[in-house]
Amino acid sequence: KTAAAPIPFDNSYARLPDPFFSKVAPKPVSEPWLIKFNTRLSDELGLDTASLLRDGAAIFSGNDLPDGAEPVAMAYAGHQFGQFVPLLGDGRAILIGEVVDRSGTRRDIQLKGAGQTPYSRRGDGRAALGPVLREYIVSEAMHAFGIPATRALAAVVTGDPVYREHILPGAVFTRVAASHVRVGTFQFFAARGDHANLKVLSDYVIDRHYPELKTEERPYVALLKAVSERQAALIARWLGVGFIHGVMNTDNMTISGETIDFGPCAFMDAYDPAKVFSSIDQGGRYGYANQPGIGQWNLARLAEAMLPILDDDTEKAVEAANEILGDYGRVFQTHWLDGMRRKIGLATSEEDDLALVQDLLSRMNEEDADFTLAFRRLSALAGNDAAEAEFAATFRNPLAIVPWVSDWRQRLEREGATRDKRAQAMRALNPGFIPRNHRIEAAIKAAVEDGDFSLFEALVEVTSRPYEDQPNFAAYAEPPKPGEEVLRTFCGT
Ligand code: AMP
Ligand code: MG
Ligand code: MG
Repeated sequence: KTAAAPIPFDNSYARLPDPFFSKVAPKPVSEPWLIKFNTRLSDELGLDTASLLRDGAAIFSGNDLPDGAEPVAMAYAGHQFGQFVPLLGDGRAILIGEVVDRSGTRRDIQLKGAGQTPYSRRGDGRAALGPVLREYIVSEAMHAFGIPATRALAAVVTGDPVYREHILPGAVFTRVAASHVRVGTFQFFAARGDHANLKVLSDYVIDRHYPELKTEERPYVALLKAVSERQAALIARWLGVGFIHGVMNTDNMTISGETIDFGPCAFMDAYDPAKVFSSIDQGGRYGYANQPGIGQWNLARLAEAMLPILDDDTEKAVEAANEILGDYGRVFQTHWLDGMRRKIGLATSEEDDLALVQDLLSRMNEEDADFTLAFRRLSALAGNDAAEAEFAATFRNPLAIVPWVSDWRQRLEREGATRDKRAQAMRALNPGFIPRNHRIEAAIKAAVEDGDFSLFEALVEVTSRPYEDQPNFAAYAEPPKPGEEVLRTFCGT
């Protein structure tokens, strides 16, 4: 054991009633090695960064948990691709405890891939190196974009193989979350008809994530509404950076409003609203443009689970739920359009803005324009007319975007901001750098096949400052060349 506690644990979930979790112990690994430790996040959490840098391999592999850790696997249910599974739970994740960070927010610290739990079913409880690196890269990039997401605190290789389609190096990922309570956690208690614990859970999440709702007349109705609004806002943000989550099962949707579970997720290169990457998503259920609708579907499942506690009068409960779900579309649309307006440099709103945005998107789709590059170059064009040719070159037929540019310029004439201010604002929300799939794949390949983490390091570095021009990394802004495109992503658990 480490001398002083390097992680000042202050655990609350482990105090909840028995059915919420199972006590577990991480299973030791052979030869842990710390790939990466997020020292900035560690400082933000108030951890002893120096000692964790020294002892991180043992701690973040689960081999030697610090004092105060109370490892548990959380129980939850969930709809997976539309099929309800009454008991899922943390099959390969272990919550080791919570800390209250420097700003006073309670955060979970979880090891992913630290061995079997009572919820593992046939799984080995382990994670392969590739998916661990992917989650590290993508979750930190989302954070850098300013999009709520779970965070990456550490990644460790275990020295043990995991057996998937191939034999792969094993790894453990340390995830930090506002909490790991999911829609599926509510479904777990609802499926058991355990209304008492449904209330305990609701009170817990109100306390932790929505304390302002405590004084509401119907706090659980207010909770459903607040979760619905946060999810609508979150999914609008995803669309704004071309993000496709890939596996929006109800067990992968948080109550806090953070993006969670970066399995087969991907950012699209060329804009295509029908885009699907995940190899297991054969019907395209979780494709890019289906995400807002699936968000609503998942929230309907949350509403169903919460129905018994929304109101003593069932009819009134149904009415409250329907009103919230009915509002979701409008809330989403408002967030989405507001985000798109700002992406094209509009600070005011006009009736025809939606048509202007849609016209741009449909030309991008028809002309296979790279989503990220197009908006980044549009930001440059906003500040400098000479950048038009470069912007237009993002489109297969550059002439196809000329009429839109002229409409856009006319619209900008009715905006107050100066050109420089507008260009600056656009650059601050249209990333130049995203973790492109072909870069992620290359980083994983080098790490897995050659033990070379330099590409992983570079990708984490460049996407941690996505809005800055980084001339040394210019190649990372480029879409894949023909033949480099990644067509499929895999869960690769
Ligand atoms: P996911 O698709 O990662 O959201 O996982 C869905 C469910 O499968 C969760 O209950 C996980 O804990 C479980 N699971 C996924 N991979 C494994 C594994 N290798 N071992 C045990 N359980 C797993
Ligand atoms: Mg999951
Ligand atoms: Mg297309």
